[in-house]
Amino acid sequence: MSEAAIEIRDLVKEYAGSKGTGPKLALNGVSFDVPQGSVFGLLGPNGAGKSTLINIMAGLVNKTAGTVKIWGHDIDADHRNAKLNIGIVPQEIVFDPFFTPFEVLENQGGFYGISKAMRRSEELLKAVRLEDKRNAYARTLSGGMKRRLLIAKAMVHSPPILVLDEPTAGVDVELRKQLWELVGELNAEGVTVVLTTHYLEEAEELCERIAIINHGELIANKPTRELVGMMGEKIVAVTVDRDLEDAALPSDPRFHKIETVGERAMEITFDKSEMTAGQVLALVQQQGFAIEDVSTREADLEDVFVQLTSEVGQAPEGQSEAARNA
Ligand code: ADP
Ligand code: MG
Repeated sequence: MSEAAIEIRDLVKEYAGSKGTGPKLALNGVSFDVPQGSVFGLLGPNGAGKSTLINIMAGLVNKTAGTVKIWGHDIDADHRNAKLNIGIVPQEIVFDPFFTPFEVLENQGGFYGISKAMRRSEELLKAVRLEDKRNAYARTLSGGMKRRLLIAKAMVHSPPILVLDEPTAGVDVELRKQLWELVGELNAEGVTVVLTTHYLEEAEELCERIAIINHGELIANKPTRELVGMMGEKIVAVTVDRDLEDAALPSDPRFHKIETVGERAMEITFDKSEMTAGQVLALVQQQGFAIEDVSTREADLEDVFVQLTSEVGQAPEGQSEAARNA
């Protein structure tokens, strides 16, 4: 089998339009690998295409083109093995309200053809800390408990890959922490975890690697520390005494990026560890500009995200380093 837990190549999904709306291109040629044993974050704003991607892996949505391999098994050619190797916690919580957590897990075990003796329902209830809710109706569980039950349900057939689609949407801080502990425990046992989120902090805290998706396109795919490394950047906004269109922009090999943000205003991005804002301003002056106004700010993951997501679809020279390296 391949080295990757999940291999996605040139994945395209076009939803047929319903009345009044045209077809919708939800995934536009997405390719990436999820390394085995990792906690992998798929980050992107609402509508980016995250659930579409997850639901294709789950066999709930038919792709338009491209290939997906789960633990080396093609979802078309080897559907059965692909399905056996992945457990998916969908974004929407759906249960029959009259089953108990124990029954939910037993039914799922039956669905996968696992004999009663081989089922792990009790163990899984314990793992998600629902042993005391064993016999409660699912409808009486809190949102966080339901989410944990769904995780147990996804793990019934002991897949090596667990996928969580927006696991903490609508979950309070305390429960979020519990969920993360659970994810950490499963990963420590060797489970490859993929989670989608639109929370930057969450992806940053949990994931070794983050892929960013926006408007159906992958715009970054990097180890988290590299993305966070981009936050060592600082931005100086400078207003000068003349129209920038008529003059060549200042340049220096240490500038990561320079862009005009108005007729006389530009933003220069640089690395704090390489130079100071004072040096940037000195360079601007040396290159013939009189400075009329200045402000500085630090880049954070939010900036990186906004920077990456806003650049898609613009001219190639507007593309960031990250997008090109993705
Ligand atoms: P995310 O999970 O990142 O929020 P989705 O994958 O749910 O994004 O949606 C991606 C895009 O596809 C959105 O524009 C959404 O409106 C559209 N979409 C999702 N499901 C359907 C569907 N069943 N039919 C038509 N369009 C859909
Ligand atoms: Mg979604």
